[in-house]
Amino acid sequence: MENGAQGFSFPSRLTLLRRRMEELGLVSMVVAAPANRRYLSGFTGDDGFLFVDERRLILFTDFRFREQARLEAPAWELRIVERRLLPEFAAWLKEEGGERIGLEAEHWTLAAYETLTRNVPAGRLVPIRGVVEQLRAVKDEEELAFIAAAAAINDRVWTRFLPLLRPGVSERDLAVELEYLLRREGAEGMAFPSIVASGPRGALPHATPGEKRLAAGEMVVVDFGAVWRGYASDMTRTVALGRVGEEERTVYGLVLAAQERALEAIRAGAVARAVDAVARNHIKEGGYGEAFGHGLGHAVGLEVHEEPRLSPTSEGEIRSGMVFTVEPGVYLPGRFGVRIEDLVVVTEDGYRNLTKSPKELLVL
Ligand code: ZN
Ligand code: ZN
Repeated sequence: MENGAQGFSFPSRLTLLRRRMEELGLVSMVVAAPANRRYLSGFTGDDGFLFVDERRLILFTDFRFREQARLEAPAWELRIVERRLLPEFAAWLKEEGGERIGLEAEHWTLAAYETLTRNVPAGRLVPIRGVVEQLRAVKDEEELAFIAAAAAINDRVWTRFLPLLRPGVSERDLAVELEYLLRREGAEGMAFPSIVASGPRGALPHATPGEKRLAAGEMVVVDFGAVWRGYASDMTRTVALGRVGEEERTVYGLVLAAQERALEAIRAGAVARAVDAVARNHIKEGGYGEAFGHGLGHAVGLEVHEEPRLSPTSEGEIRSGMVFTVEPGVYLPGRFGVRIEDLVVVTEDGYRNLTKSPKELLVL
């Protein structure tokens, strides 16, 4: 959990946050969402509040995290509450928070909000959305290095995993092997529960690996991710187990071409929705438009699914330093599915692909 090397980026993050707070007319802000908390302070504990105003940076947590907070967030004044974190923090906030206190609207539960407003008048609390998330969207060099390292773990795991894909092995056993290999290759953990979906189950984009055993002639979709230094990776490959039908091969080629075209459309300034449309139109022209029902990709960082998205409803342009998955798929209920997913960094004139595993159809 030690991450002292992460220190240098925090001052600029806080400068940007304070500028944004000023624009929003906030006197102070409370940061409670774990990824936002970590991004601004380095603190990785389960429980705590950051308080930011014009001149103070205070981290409130409890005894369990005292030493950890001191080591991970040296720039923050540490307050250890004696008994219950939220009520004691709320009592302090009432006195010290000022008239306009920013609160992450999407993080607070109604119950926690009620506890807070027993102390702090609701009129002083300003719901804010996506403020820290917007800062997180453009990654700095250090973050890019961590994400690249997580993606490299995926590539190494994939090489070791392929020989295990055989008829008769259950999806569940393969998912367990993936978890083991991720840890063996250096991951702190899994970025999300792995997907191993064979045959008709591949048509469920978020299938849970079950007791079903792989059979010859099936397509197998494998989607997994590592966490390294808190940052996630995300990758999908689809392979053929022995001889598969003509349509399986056609669909595979179509999805791969859709992905390659979308990748070519990625560069700083590209419209997010337009990048999605490149892949979507290609799949539609191939006759499988109805079978691609999800967005083309999502941003990845401290969380595996971050904003912005590459989807038909996305707004705005993508920027240099953003990290996206590019994952078109075709899902044919009762039959099979194909998805191919790479992780890329947007650059001024294109993209850098962090996923190196080959993409031609593997027949095992
Ligand atoms: Zn994925
Ligand atoms: Zn993904």
